[in-house]
Amino acid sequence: MSLTEFDIIDRYFRPLQCERPELRFGIGDDAAVLAPPAGQELVLTLDTLVAGVHFPQDAPAHAVGYKALAVNLSDLAAMGAAPSVVLLSLTVPEFDADWLAEFSAGFGELAAEHGVSLVGGDVTCGPLSVSVQATGLVDAGCAIRRSGASPGDVILVSGTLGDAALGLEAWSAGEPDNHDTAVRRLHYPTPRVALGRLLVGRAHACVDVSDGLLADLGHVLAASGRGAEVHVDRVPVSADFEAHCAPDRRLEYALAWGDDYELCACVPAADAEALVADAEAIGERLTSVGRVTAEPSVAVFDADGRRLRMPRAGYRHFGTDGEYRARE
Ligand code: ADP
Ligand code: MG
Repeated sequence: MSLTEFDIIDRYFRPLQCERPELRFGIGDDAAVLAPPAGQELVLTLDTLVAGVHFPQDAPAHAVGYKALAVNLSDLAAMGAAPSVVLLSLTVPEFDADWLAEFSAGFGELAAEHGVSLVGGDVTCGPLSVSVQATGLVDAGCAIRRSGASPGDVILVSGTLGDAALGLEAWSAGEPDNHDTAVRRLHYPTPRVALGRLLVGRAHACVDVSDGLLADLGHVLAASGRGAEVHVDRVPVSADFEAHCAPDRRLEYALAWGDDYELCACVPAADAEALVADAEAIGERLTSVGRVTAEPSVAVFDADGRRLRMPRAGYRHFGTDGEYRARE
């Protein structure tokens, strides 16, 4: 049975469109039409995942669909925006019904969880690649930016870091069952949407950790013209990571690898404790890993207070050979 582009849209993607108050028209016209509510601003982001670069070639289709949406919702979360509608551009080598059904199910699972509506996109044939454009809403003037960090701010990190790196190690070694929670974190990152909403009006600056804590915090500090002290023994890691990560990989995986999709926020010291408690009340963990400093350099300290030299700052797309495993 051969599927046309239109069969694919009708069968696998139209069901992921849901009604939203601000959505006028979605799939079926040449473009979707949105009427943003008065007093709100649109927050727009787009991320592309290329097979073999951003996810392993053999990643399950369900996971690819989920992650393609998750990484975009994570960007909205960092801005403090509520997700609204998304566009999907999918390039697949062939129209494989099973693959498409799984991909759609994974994408749809996360979309449903956040009430996100798929309102349009594109389907083409070629090397596997997925682009998602996500639009969110935030009260006018309230989006959280990277540029607001001030000296004395506490640096808070959500969840745990390093699991995706550990998961990739297990997946690449063909042993996904060894660290199934870490592998799950690699394939199914959790966008911290509710936490991002909680940070609005409270965080001075925020970023999502997609390329490693030091690299992404570095973007915040550069935009803010500030520096930081980071204490590696405070960086939150999971029990799985604690138990199974090789000692010589711990720093790299937790600080400089990426694919974590946690939030890193700079918050006024006076509000930090209350924010941690408020986050806990919505089931989110926030951990202080250090402070923002006036002088624009990043100092990383170990448990004994010794300053560490960090060998690498995170994943860079150019300057590697482009292979997913090139971060070894
Ligand atoms: P056009 O040729 O005008 O770009 P298409 O034929 O590509 O339109 O798409 C027809 C309709 O289906 C459009 O509304 C488009 O946004 C929507 N669409 C295309 N691909 C997808 C997709 N992957 N997911 C959701 N909607 C899609
Ligand atoms: Mg088109």
